[in-house]
Amino acid sequence: MPEPLPEPTDTRSALTPEDEGARAASAQRFVAVDLEARAERAGGAAQEVLEAQAMMAEDPTLVDDLTERLATGKTAERAVFEAFSTFRDQLTELGGYLAERAADLDDVSQRVIAQLGGRAAPGVPEQEEPFILIAHDLAPADTALLDLTRVLGLVTSDGGPTSHTAILARDKAIVAIVGATGATDLADGTLVIVDAASGTVTVSPTEAEVETAEARIRARALRAQAPTGPGRLRDGTPIPLLANLGSADGAAQAVALGAEGVGLFRTEFLFLHSHNAPTILEQAEQYARLLHAFPGKKVVVRALDAGSDKPLAFLNDAEEENPALGLRGLRALRASEDILREQLTALAEADAATDADVWVMAPMVATVEETAYFVELAHKLGLKTAGVMVEIPSAALLADRILQHADFASIGTNDLTQYTLAADRLLGSVAGYQNPWHPAVLRLIAEVGAAGRDLGKPVGVCGEAAADPLLAVVLVGLGATSLSMSSAALSDVRAELARFSAEEARQLAAVALAADGAASARAAATHLAATFSPTD
Ligand code: PEP
Ligand code: MG
Repeated sequence: MPEPLPEPTDTRSALTPEDEGARAASAQRFVAVDLEARAERAGGAAQEVLEAQAMMAEDPTLVDDLTERLATGKTAERAVFEAFSTFRDQLTELGGYLAERAADLDDVSQRVIAQLGGRAAPGVPEQEEPFILIAHDLAPADTALLDLTRVLGLVTSDGGPTSHTAILARDKAIVAIVGATGATDLADGTLVIVDAASGTVTVSPTEAEVETAEARIRARALRAQAPTGPGRLRDGTPIPLLANLGSADGAAQAVALGAEGVGLFRTEFLFLHSHNAPTILEQAEQYARLLHAFPGKKVVVRALDAGSDKPLAFLNDAEEENPALGLRGLRALRASEDILREQLTALAEADAATDADVWVMAPMVATVEETAYFVELAHKLGLKTAGVMVEIPSAALLADRILQHADFASIGTNDLTQYTLAADRLLGSVAGYQNPWHPAVLRLIAEVGAAGRDLGKPVGVCGEAAADPLLAVVLVGLGATSLSMSSAALSDVRAELARFSAEEARQLAAVALAADGAASARAAATHLAATFSPTD
């Protein structure tokens, strides 16, 4: 990837501030129009990101700042650079989700400066031969439009697992590793193997390593063509495979890839840019759009999960020192109970208007009392199946009591790992802890699985862990009765489940639980799995 453009020098402009202002405005307009066109072409989750970027290009606060800087005699290039940098610093200071959007702003700034100099926008290099793209970070505008016939994979040195690059790469099913420190030191033309499942990049691999990788790619291609039946173990035990969705847009793809329903509908993704709470009507329409795609199928809808990485201004816009430990999820909903009641009412209306089997669950539940509160309210407002997400260790430890009240539990391994290992899931420097193979996390999952079994209540898993094929088998061995993941992961997980019996899944779970750490848990399960059936 080309390096970023150099910082424009701070020399006095020979033009008037008005003329420089006109240059800046025309470059900003050009970039906004270009980004809007890209948004239209990209569609899906990318569209929203690119549309937001197009708006950033002409943001009124930024334009005011720019005009003030031009009035002091700066060139348009320098003033654009300074105004965007100031805006970026403000976002970074806010932390969390907003800090991750700072990279999007840098990209817009670079595009405007390139346009002012009559240069092409920075981006993915043109090259005939297929290649692995290595970059510091890839702008959403570039990730969204990557030509998958040429770009075989993507490795970035920056960005956390929830940066837009990561979200969009998942959406496009690109083999991608983000936050690989030192990746940009690799020389152009170096041969590498990128294994997104294990998160490894093998530099200058041996011939044997290349052969193994090629065999795995062939096996994967075969699996992708395999018929998409329901998820089940080798002995026939059904393990329904469901999709994680953030809007109705991904529903058709999920159905095509054999999703047996939806295990996590992240409703907050619909309203990330809203300043006011959505109305009941607006919500009922959005929910019905999704439900229509799954007639007769289970659709698990999560109540708005606001806070930390997913701020919703209308639920909690307070400055918090530690937002991951703050007024978020169900806590924020309870503090604005009207919004919770309206959401449940909208959902009950959409449920009545469609044939889907609607389940609702509360995010970030910490206590038995919270569970009873949510489940009672949801039932009262007309929803027949109400449960909780288990993503806080306290909820896992008291799962036997929580499941006395809830109709089901769904384990969110992303947050459960974050809270168990005390490692911010957005922070690259502690990303190594964000590994759901850790036996401490597995032990908590086992608590929930055992409680579900004892009480005859379903226990799903809807965090990223369910998308890791071997870990998915371990989760079943720990008691998970369904698994939910991004649609792209369905075929790999379906194929892996079919290799093991329920008894083997339990044995794999037992060896992983007995390990000291995440790496040894994965190694022990991999080793034992190889003795049950040959790997590809
Ligand atoms: C989780 O925490 O695992 C989860 C599924 O929810 P989210 O990633 O949206 O926080
Ligand atoms: Mg979560």
